[in-house]
Amino acid sequence: MTIDKMINEIINEVRYTHSLTGKKKLNDNVMKVMANTPRELFVPEYLRDLAFENGPLPIGHGQSISQPYIVALMTDILELQVDHTVLEIGTGSGYQAAILSSLCKKVYTVERINELNVISKKRFKELGYDNIETRVGNGYEGWKEHAPYDRIIVTAAAQHIPAPLIKQLKPGGRLVLPIGHMSLHQELIVVNKDHNNKITTQSILGVSFVPLINDPVRKHGVTIH
Ligand code: SAH
Repeated sequence: MTIDKMINEIINEVRYTHSLTGKKKLNDNVMKVMANTPRELFVPEYLRDLAFENGPLPIGHGQSISQPYIVALMTDILELQVDHTVLEIGTGSGYQAAILSSLCKKVYTVERINELNVISKKRFKELGYDNIETRVGNGYEGWKEHAPYDRIIVTAAAQHIPAPLIKQLKPGGRLVLPIGHMSLHQELIVVNKDHNNKITTQSILGVSFVPLINDPVRKHGVTIH
């Protein structure tokens, strides 16, 4: 299976879900970046043969790299511009952050598992993604030092929209995230903050993500929020 096949599967799934998302096709720039980002280098070596399947794959620590269609859809929904600063919660493999970083100015990404942070940081360096900054911490709290953000994306399912993330969003900004319980129904939600700081939300379609764990993270005996 090649990356072309993965791209075709994304195109087909976009068509198939058109009545839910209102999208017949995704943004050309998003699709180009999907075609040019080596997903096989973001999965464990033993799973490389499956890297271009349109499905999630395990990345260790009970976590997974998301399905390519969902990565493309969430990226499309963000309507990124080249001068945007983006916050991602749930770095995982680093794949989604790499896609975002090719379409905007700067990506800040937070991961609660130290080992995953170390691996993704190494990948970004080796592959030349030099506009991504990573941090170990509880992403429920966002990353307030670099706020406000033009866009925020959460790639783990929270049970409600985290208030700190709404706060760290610029007026005119957009947040996309899955909301729901692990074993029950989750929905992909888009949150818009207008220029008067008024919040509106829209539900897009049913999804399945690992849970957002809202616990303080312990690293080297220090609690990081
Ligand atoms: N965007 C990732 C998908 C990773 S799966 C990719 O492209 O590969 C979701 C990730 O969210 C997991 O790595 C998990 O450890 C992380 N996560 C869960 N709760 C979190 C929290 N509160 N803060 C930061 N990361 C969290």
